[in-house]
Amino acid sequence: MSTLKQPQRPTVKGPAEWFTGDVYFNAYYAGEEPSRTRLNLVRFTPGAHTAWHRHAVGQTLHVTEGRGYVQSRGEELIELLPGDTVYTPAGEWHWHGATGDNFMCHLALWESPGPDSAEPETTWGEKLTPEEYPGP
Ligand code: MN
Repeated sequence: MSTLKQPQRPTVKGPAEWFTGDVYFNAYYAGEEPSRTRLNLVRFTPGAHTAWHRHAVGQTLHVTEGRGYVQSRGEELIELLPGDTVYTPAGEWHWHGATGDNFMCHLALWESPGPDSAEPETTWGEKLTPEEYPGP
């Protein structure tokens, strides 16, 4: 094995069942066993955000641009600015996205739970209600 340049992959629109508003992502890395690492760049347009979801092995977000939010269920809203890094533990329900008046781009780093796990990498739940999304 030697160092290999990876193929560039196209920007993909986030599926409407997982996101409110327009979200685009690029999958930069999806490791093959024994690596289970995944790295995406996710771009949220103003007001766009994920549905409630959880990651089997947790997730780290690193904000590269704009203004956004992340919130775990039942916990305080966290405002995100460029340079911020946040970690959401395994199995914790949460959402993330842009503020109502700005784009927000983050790198998302997470892992697959592995081939023997019954649990998917990400479990998706309900969309946020208008009352749950804080707006601008
Ligand atoms: Mn997440």
